[in-house]
Amino acid sequence: MLVRPLAAVVLILVANFACDRAASQTTAPQSASSAAPATPLPTNHVLVISVDGLRADMLEPPMITEFPALTRLLRGPHTLNARTDPDFTVTLPNHISMVTGRATLGEAGHGWTLNTDPAGVDQGGTIHATKGAYVASMFDVAHDAGVATGVFVSKTKFWVFTQSYGDTFGAPDIVEPDEGTAKIDLFVHADSMSDLGGTVADHLRRKHGKTLDFVHFAAPDIAGHSYDWKVNNTSKYFEAVVEVDHAIAEILRAIDETEHLRGTTAIILTADHGGGVPLKTHTDMTCPLNFRIPFLVWMGDASAALDLQALNPARTKPARDELITRVADKQPIRNGDAANAALHLLGLPSVPGSRYGADEPLHFAPPTSSDKTKN
Ligand SMILES: [Zn+2]
Repeated sequence: MLVRPLAAVVLILVANFACDRAASQTTAPQSASSAAPATPLPTNHVLVISVDGLRADMLEPPMITEFPALTRLLRGPHTLNARTDPDFTVTLPNHISMVTGRATLGEAGHGWTLNTDPAGVDQGGTIHATKGAYVASMFDVAHDAGVATGVFVSKTKFWVFTQSYGDTFGAPDIVEPDEGTAKIDLFVHADSMSDLGGTVADHLRRKHGKTLDFVHFAAPDIAGHSYDWKVNNTSKYFEAVVEVDHAIAEILRAIDETEHLRGTTAIILTADHGGGVPLKTHTDMTCPLNFRIPFLVWMGDASAALDLQALNPARTKPARDELITRVADKQPIRNGDAANAALHLLGLPSVPGSRYGADEPLHFAPPTSSDKTKN
């Protein structure tokens, strides 16, 4: 049985050098069981984790066996065939999509196309100034409802979050009691993946009330740009994903060891883009190696590894080389689903003005008999 994994490795290596659609389609999908999940416990804590530049095929055999923490996160509804923003495969437009639930372009888009450090707030460096209207985020809905919010990142361009949702430019809280205009309670920047994981773990241990935290791990993207996006267990890209896996393990350890976190914490993990085409970047919008990404929902180890696409027939199930345009009525599951998925897990409404999962929330379990009788 040694032959099959080796063959898969060879195909993936070939795919690193060009946008080889056939190779991309040949990688084996992660198997998902059809068992019903355990009844989800009330979720008090949600982490949205973005692993910058994480290709979906890193979470498929044979590579996934190298990442025990990421393997654990696959014990829940997930798809390894989710999509980036329909028009951009770069960092910032996709991350703003993750927290606003919107595409980048179009009338309902968030409108932020830059991928550099934002201008100062007095030079228009907020999402709202660029859009010409307030663009609400998951932080608005959560914070207004009394949920503590945090942002833990490893790139300085995420200042656009605090500039847009900080005290000065955050919207007034119209939900009683008034929690103020600053929608993000804590903003942490760290270069080291282990520092970031440890900080998030310590933060969660101390937080007893409801929390919504956004965590960004940059290492795989940095390794990809410096070397390449080679999917094998000797590349610098691989080493960076191992670093992220260790950081996530630290967070999972905090959840396991802390009574108020255990059984009440959910993790949504996705990526802003994949990478490798052209070799040291991810800017070719037409290549599935760049636009095919994971979308994982972990609700504790008891939840079953269900196929998130099968649970959500209202969303399109693209072939592995199809991106699906922004204007298509039926959208694939995208990283932009993270905002509303996180809020719904906390029992909160969708982000105002958002699109992905806004009117029809993503389903994380098969319909129950009582759901069916409601229709
Ligand atoms: Zn990048």
